Amino acid sequence: MEERPTHGFVFAVMTFSSEVSAVMRAHAERAWPSECVGALLGRGDEALAARPLENVEPRPRAHFEVSARELLAVEREAEARGLSVRGYYHSHPDGPASPSAEDAAFAQAGQWTVIIPVVAGVADAPASFRFEGASP
Ligand SMILES: [Zn+2]
Repeated sequence: MEERPTHGFVFAVMTFSSEVSAVMRAHAERAWPSECVGALLGRGDEALAARPLENVEPRPRAHFEVSARELLAVEREAEARGLSVRGYYHSHPDGPASPSAEDAAFAQAGQWTVIIPVVAGVADAPASFRFEGASP
């Protein structure tokens, strides 16, 4: 039986090319044992580009944070390309591919959260979720 995601997330398939997947996996492996984070630019449920961002969290092994300046820059980049930021990806170094309560704090309703589990420095297949808002 499949375990249900929690913290306001639901399983939701996000479509991404093998190139987008390769960018996310390479970034996750580069950042290991810290978490990586990046934006997913696209349309609808399709990510057309993965854009690595800087994890500015002072405790990056189990957390991620992006500067407001970089979030704004990536929003503008998406707009300039006729796309929008559909969501964000980040890695879980040696952790499960399920979203945490902290991930819910970063997510915005309707956006995708993609998690790349990294085990001993090797990235596994990304798992995608959509955030529907905190449950009451
Ligand atoms: Zn997470």
